[in-house]
Amino acid sequence: MVNRNKKGGDYLRSIMTDNLKVCYYCGATEGVELHHAIHGKIGRKLAIQYHLTVGLCENCHRGKYGVHGKYGYEKDLKLKAEAQEAWESRRIRKGKSTPENVKQEWVEIFGVDYIKEFEDYIQECKRDFITEEKEEEILREIYKEKEYENI
Ligand SMILES: [Zn+2]
Ligand SMILES: [Zn+2]
Repeated sequence: MVNRNKKGGDYLRSIMTDNLKVCYYCGATEGVELHHAIHGKIGRKLAIQYHLTVGLCENCHRGKYGVHGKYGYEKDLKLKAEAQEAWESRRIRKGKSTPENVKQEWVEIFGVDYIKEFEDYIQECKRDFITEEKEEEILREIYKEKEYENI
């Protein structure tokens, strides 16, 4: 879908969503702002060029847990990975690339394989989670031993 702005350009076209006026994360429709999925100095220009934009409500955008927020790292990275996915699948669908080549093409333009980065991040979180569980297990055993000693 093309949301043309007043100047008639296609600045507001997105390949990630059909509706830039709805928050991409929570579905809110109030105070929705435009977010460039790939950002930073160069990233922003690329996001505009390749239409990698979404709508985000103020909270999901600039809130503490929003993509630009202090605790928004995972959300931000997920969005980047989804931008990459949208770009890659569209390119293949349009016959501009093949599944074998498309990732390399993305990396050449955007510099980072965000899908892999996101997967690695999730793996890391899972590892931490397992470690935490194990820690609990160890603690439980220590407590059991103590109970035993008390008896
Ligand atoms: Zn939201
Ligand atoms: Zn933003």
